[in-house]
Amino acid sequence: MNNTKIKPIVFATHNANKLAEIREIARGEVEVLGLTDIGCHDEIDETGNTLEENALIKARQVKERYGYDCFADDTGLEVDALNGVPGIYSARYAGPSCDSEANMQKMLTVLQGIDDRSAQFRTVIALVANDEEHLFEGIIRGQITREKRGNKGFGYDPIFVPEGYDLTFAEMEASVKNRVSHRALAMAKLIEFLLIRKNRYL
Ligand code: IMP
Repeated sequence: MNNTKIKPIVFATHNANKLAEIREIARGEVEVLGLTDIGCHDEIDETGNTLEENALIKARQVKERYGYDCFADDTGLEVDALNGVPGIYSARYAGPSCDSEANMQKMLTVLQGIDDRSAQFRTVIALVANDEEHLFEGIIRGQITREKRGNKGFGYDPIFVPEGYDLTFAEMEASVKNRVSHRALAMAKLIEFLLIRKNRYL
């Protein structure tokens, strides 16, 4: 068995919850550093037109500026009846203030009278390492509720019921959500990839 550790990799985020989530999935087999850990306090712009572009832009910037192998994520809520909207604009759906309450209210208003409530959260992770770029995707399908339920989580959690459950993400324990979420799925694919390709990342 090869016990050699993979060299540390940077997750291009300032979000402590996301770091904790990926570290739990990595179970110490991959050392993941956050932007703060490498002295990066920059806000990295998301100027792309797709989740894939945004994730790549962020990961490339960190790799270029700091030299670390890096990965970055971008997530959107994609509503079927709205042809995938708000997608990359999920955080700013109701305006630049990124107000989750306003975003949810707008979504419930826009979907009033629409029976097809199908939607998905989609996370894309871009990995820039060893002069290679790879993308990993995590999708969770579900339904947009007709009213908000629950007070856990963040973002659109109170109006999203994942397939196979009756509870919204905001009614679930974080440990359950973090096992099935779009982000967890994408992160698990990334970690699996890094471990399988271990020898190439020494
Ligand atoms: P980010 O790319 O992780 O910053 O996500 C962009 C936006 O998508 C967030 O500001 C939220 O509005 C929404 N979002 C992402 N992940 C989740 C989630 O797990 N639950 C609810 N909303 C989310």
